[in-house]
Amino acid sequence: MTRYIFIAGGVMSGIGKGISTASIGAILISCGYRVSCVKIDPYLNVDAGTMNPVEHGEVFVTDDGLECDQDVGNYERFLDQNLYRANYMTSGQVYQTVINRERSLGYDGKCVETVPHIPEEIIARLDRVAERTKADFVLIEIGGTVGEYQNLIFFEAARMMHLSLPSRVLFVLVSYLPIPAMLGEMKTKPTQHAVRQLNASGIQPDIIIARSAVPLDLPRKRKIAVFCNIRVEDVISAPDIKSIYEVPVNFEKEEISARIFEKFGIPTRKADLARWARLGRKVASLKKTVRIGIIGKYFATGRFTLSDSYISVIEAIKHAAWDIGAKPDIQWLDAERYEANTPNVRELGKLDGIIVPGGFGGRGIEGKMRAIRYARENDIPFFGLCYGMQLATIEFARTVAGLKRACTTEVDPQTPHPVIATMEEQEKNIAMGKFGGSMRLGAHPCQLRKGTLSYRAYAENTITERHRHRYEFNNHFREELERAGLVIAGANPERNLVEIVELKKHPFFVGTQFHPELKSRPFRPHPLFLAFLRACLAESRRASRKRAESKRR
Ligand code: GLN
Repeated sequence: MTRYIFIAGGVMSGIGKGISTASIGAILISCGYRVSCVKIDPYLNVDAGTMNPVEHGEVFVTDDGLECDQDVGNYERFLDQNLYRANYMTSGQVYQTVINRERSLGYDGKCVETVPHIPEEIIARLDRVAERTKADFVLIEIGGTVGEYQNLIFFEAARMMHLSLPSRVLFVLVSYLPIPAMLGEMKTKPTQHAVRQLNASGIQPDIIIARSAVPLDLPRKRKIAVFCNIRVEDVISAPDIKSIYEVPVNFEKEEISARIFEKFGIPTRKADLARWARLGRKVASLKKTVRIGIIGKYFATGRFTLSDSYISVIEAIKHAAWDIGAKPDIQWLDAERYEANTPNVRELGKLDGIIVPGGFGGRGIEGKMRAIRYARENDIPFFGLCYGMQLATIEFARTVAGLKRACTTEVDPQTPHPVIATMEEQEKNIAMGKFGGSMRLGAHPCQLRKGTLSYRAYAENTITERHRHRYEFNNHFREELERAGLVIAGANPERNLVEIVELKKHPFFVGTQFHPELKSRPFRPHPLFLAFLRACLAESRRASRKRAESKRR
C-alpha cells in the first residue's frame, strides 16, 4: 500500500524543492516509515553525465553507477540511504524506452502517442520503485517549475495516478513569496498564479510550502488559503534559514507530518527529530573556524558565483567539520588565478587546508598544480578528489620524480610521460564518440595499505567508494613514482588500479581516484574528510599560535 507524494515548484527555481522533498522524507522516516525518493528531470538528456556542472550543478553518482542530479545526493544525505537508478528519471529515459519498445513491436501495431504512452511509462517506473523498495511513501520531485512545456507530461502522469488512486496520491507545491524592496511587503500573487497553472493541469495542491525570507504571518496564510483553495493549516511557512539541516525541524514545527497523515487518512505518528535538532544546536554554537580553499573552475555564471557545482564536497566538509566541533569557512578559489607565475598562489598560505575537486579538460589545470605544489611544499593539508588526485600525481611526477613533461593524456595525448592515461576499453569509447554513461562509474572496492594515513582513517582493509572518471593512474610509472616517494595507499583488488596516493612527512596529503564526498552523511561524516579536517584544525591552531608569537615579539 505505497502512497505517493508529488512535490512541484512554483514561481521560480532554486527555492529548495529538493531539500523540501528530502526533509519530508527524513520526517516520515523519523515516524518509523519506509521512504524512497525519485527525482524527475524534464530535460531530454538520458542522464546528467553529459552536462557541464555550471549548466546543471554537480553530477551525483549512485552506487550502481548512475550519473544523476545533485538532488539525489540531497535525498541520500537526508534519508541516510543509498539510492539507485530507479530513483532518477528524465524525459530522455522515458522517451528512449517508449521508442525502443515501439521499434521492437512492443505496442502491437498501435499508434504510439505522447498521451497515454509516455505517462504510462512514467507511472510504470514509479510503480517499480514502490515494488522494489517496499516503501510506505514514495516522494516524487518534479524538476523545473509549473507552467513549463518540458515537465507538463509528468504532471499529466501525476494527474492520472491521482485519478486511479485518489486516496494514495498527494500534491505539495513549494512556492516562493517575494518581498520586493520597494514595497517591503510579502506578496502572494505569484503563488496564486502558480496554483492556477497547476489547476490547469488538473491538479490541486494539498499542501503549499511557502518559502520566503521571513516566516509567513496569518494574513498571508489566509490570503493563500482563500485564493489557492486550501485550508490555512495546509500552508507551511518555510523561511530562509542558515543551514539546510534545520529544515526538517522547521517543517515539523508547522506540523507537516500531521497534515500528510490526515490527508491520507492514516493515524498520526509522532516524528522524532531529536538528532536533527541536536545537529542544529551544535552548528549554531560552533566558534572555532577552519579555512578551507576549494580550487576549481566551475563557479562563474556571469556576475554570479555558483557553488552548486561542488555541493557534495561542501556538504562533506561541513559534516566532518561539525563532527570535530569546527565551523568551516569555505573559500572559492579560481584555479586560473594561479596560472603562469603570478604571486597569487602565496595567498594559499592563509588557508588551513586545500581541496582540489573533480574536473575535466585542460582549463585551469596548471593553476591547480601550482596550488598543489604550494600545499605540498608548505605542509598545508591537501585533499585531491579524482582529478585532484590525478593532478597531484602529475605535479609529483614533474617536480619530484623529474618527469618534466608528465601529463594526463586527457590534456596532452602526445606526452612522453603519460602518468595518467586511459584504459583500453575507454580508448574504444573515445574513438567511437561514446561519451554518455561510459566512464568508470559507481561503487568499486579498494584495498588499503596498512600503515598509511588512509588505512588509519578508515580503520578497515577494504572499502567501497564511488567513481566517475575515464582516466587512471598509469601503472607503467608506478614503480618509478613510488621510488621517488609517492605512497600508493589503496588499489582496486581485481584490476590493480591505483585508487589512493599519499605523501609521507606531510601533515595530510591524500588524493583519491574516487569521490569520497558522495558518501558523506550529516550523521556519518566520511572518514577521509574527518582525517583531513582534523589535520586542518591542527594547522589552524598552529597558524594562530604563530600569529600570537609574532605579536608578542
Ligand atoms: N577528467 C578526469 C577523468 O576523466 C577526472 C574526472 C573527475 O574528476 N571526475 O578521469
